[in-house]
Amino acid sequence: LKSAGCLESIGVNFAPEDIGGLASLKKWLSRRRGGMSSKARAFGLDPPRGILLLGVQGCGKSLCAKIVAADWGMPLLRMDPGVLYQKFIGESENRLREALAQAESMAPVILWIDEIEKAFASSSSSSADGGLSQRMFGTLLTWMQDHRSPIFMVATANNISALPPELMRKGRFDEIFFVDLPNDAVRRDIWKIHLQRRQRDPKSFNLERLAAKSEGFSGAEIEQAVISGMFVAFAERCELSDDLLIKEIETTRPLYKMMSGKINK
Ligand code: ATP
Repeated sequence: LKSAGCLESIGVNFAPEDIGGLASLKKWLSRRRGGMSSKARAFGLDPPRGILLLGVQGCGKSLCAKIVAADWGMPLLRMDPGVLYQKFIGESENRLREALAQAESMAPVILWIDEIEKAFASSSSSSADGGLSQRMFGTLLTWMQDHRSPIFMVATANNISALPPELMRKGRFDEIFFVDLPNDAVRRDIWKIHLQRRQRDPKSFNLERLAAKSEGFSGAEIEQAVISGMFVAFAERCELSDDLLIKEIETTRPLYKMMSGKINK
């Protein structure tokens, strides 16, 4: 890709079943499948323009971007706004414009803007950046309103407080979803998904117990526990078991609980 460094093409091999929870998001996306096609246009539909996914790290925001692309059968472009910032006046906005123009040249496409908050946070403090954050925001907003190409934007953000509130105003995105830590039932699904992905029969595990023990874990932390458990089983030449996984859970310090001071191991 010409805008190397800030745009990258991502191969995807996922299906909606690969993500636990997020039922309303999955439903919203399935209703809009085919919405970018000329058939939908002829039917009188405006193509969906984009969603904003806010929330906790490791809970599936990036996975969602990949799933939309796979499920809608469209290519996925990932933009890393963190590398847009340049030293010279006007250069950062130009890089952003260039990257967006390149995405347009590849449409129809899903454009995933990963950690969109980084587009509005220059390395200097916001008051001392000469209005750069504002100009970047203006550039993106103008593009979001004006472009006519079939691009569906999936913007993800961990740090909501770094986002300009105007970005969340009605009409900017089709919808905003909060992606939270999984509850008990969703953790059960996530254990199942990751055991299955590694050729283990979920029926040989006590998913209720695993879900209860992993309260406060993100999806990424559950996946990590499965991977670590697999390595232990491999090294010790035994089969992966509930007890082995529970040992992994007990030695994991889930990020959310650490940050909120709920554990102090
Ligand atoms: P970050 O903000 O740190 O990028 P994220 O919310 O984008 O986090 P992902 O990168 O999507 O999280 O999650 C990392 C991995 O954790 C996923 O690729 C997936 O394997 C696993 N995972 C996270 N959430 C879920 C979920 N709800 N269901 C199944 N797997 C999940």
